[in-house]
Amino acid sequence: MDVEVLGTTGSQFRLIAKGVDQSFINAIRRTIMADVLVPAIDRVFVAENSGCLYDEVLAHRMGLIPLRGGEGLVHPSACECGGKGCSKCEAILTLEVEAPEDNYAVYSGSLMAEGSVFVANNEIPLAVLNKSQRIVLEAHARLGSGKEHAKWQPVSGAVVKYLPIIKVDESKCALSAKCVDVCPKKILAIENKRLKVVSIWDCTLCKACVDACPSGAISISYDAKCAALSLESEGSLSPQELVLAACDVLTKKFESIKLALSDSKEAS
Ligand SMILES: [Zn+2]
Repeated sequence: MDVEVLGTTGSQFRLIAKGVDQSFINAIRRTIMADVLVPAIDRVFVAENSGCLYDEVLAHRMGLIPLRGGEGLVHPSACECGGKGCSKCEAILTLEVEAPEDNYAVYSGSLMAEGSVFVANNEIPLAVLNKSQRIVLEAHARLGSGKEHAKWQPVSGAVVKYLPIIKVDESKCALSAKCVDVCPKKILAIENKRLKVVSIWDCTLCKACVDACPSGAISISYDAKCAALSLESEGSLSPQELVLAACDVLTKKFESIKLALSDSKEAS
């Protein structure tokens, strides 16, 4: 299997795998969405809230803030506290703010970390307060995964697609440019009196170009042995860290299968 990483730009990247079935890459995508552990705020203790947002609405908004860190924390289900919440499975963030003026916006950056977990993005609006209104609260963050609740899903976008194959029969192509105009992703262009594909991975296989071509010169298929994984991280982990974490999760599952098989051999 050949693997190539394309177009890493901050929170987004694309990985291309050649010589492997798409289901193999899809296993990594599904593991990232369902099994990779990241921190999120799970409980909020509101001491004071004189703003217009109900406590429940404020707590819901805080649960959706992407958090980084969490090193040293264990999942509550594996903690000796039995999941009740303790310093080994929870990290605390606090918020204490009083509006100095009307229409004062409170952002996620006002949350102060008291443990190993901190806010990944300081620019997320939490509430708008009028002068002298106050919010004082303590938020408890814990590790979780996407299969528990969407707030622990570490990606806002995770897509696997085949490599599109676009064939142009030049003996039929009259360079009408209708396919170029109709393509929603603008992946076709006419250069030096020839129709060319300029960005093959942007093709969504919509076949609008096939329908638009008056001479039937274009045919579209896909390579089932070449897949692309596109990720957009919401900030808890970088896309590269997400892939590595998913590989670790899958490796542990495979190891448990190997262990079970070796145990059954010894028993027989
Ligand atoms: Zn605990």
